[in-house]
Amino acid sequence: MALLEVLHFPDSRLRKKAVPVENVDENCHALAKDMLETMYANRGIGLAATQVNIQKCLVVIDLSEDKNESMCLINPEILSSEGTEESQEGCLSVPEYYEMVTRAEKIKYRYMDLNGEVIEDDADGLLAICIQHEIDHLDGKLFIDYLSPMKRQRLRKKLDKQEKFQVPVL
Ligand code: ZN
Repeated sequence: MALLEVLHFPDSRLRKKAVPVENVDENCHALAKDMLETMYANRGIGLAATQVNIQKCLVVIDLSEDKNESMCLINPEILSSEGTEESQEGCLSVPEYYEMVTRAEKIKYRYMDLNGEVIEDDADGLLAICIQHEIDHLDGKLFIDYLSPMKRQRLRKKLDKQEKFQVPVL
């Protein structure tokens, strides 16, 4: 297993579109393992392959407190959605930044698991938000794309400041 490098906004590689997985093979299993390890190490609850610079439609999620209920969603898609819900979101690719985002409250979704089985399920609450957030990544979209221009400008300023104070560690 290996820790993977997580790309940070505004890296343009976060804008690349992922390609559907055709075969759930050993590479897929290895990638899912590495992504889970990377997600846990960074204290995330979800990670899309796009964030580790791999353009494959693969997402890992674990919402459990004990970090022992991992899910791997291959080629995930939302079939239908219902209602709206606003909640605070963060992202491993936009460190230390949290904002309110409006998303669908309930979703019906389909994906393939690591056994190559196609599964259809319903989700609400945090899982629904997480799946929508991760599928956005596969489309090259970030949660900050939903913010007002003013809020995005503020984020830019914050990131510029962080860069200025970054001292090289030799
Ligand atoms: Zn994210």
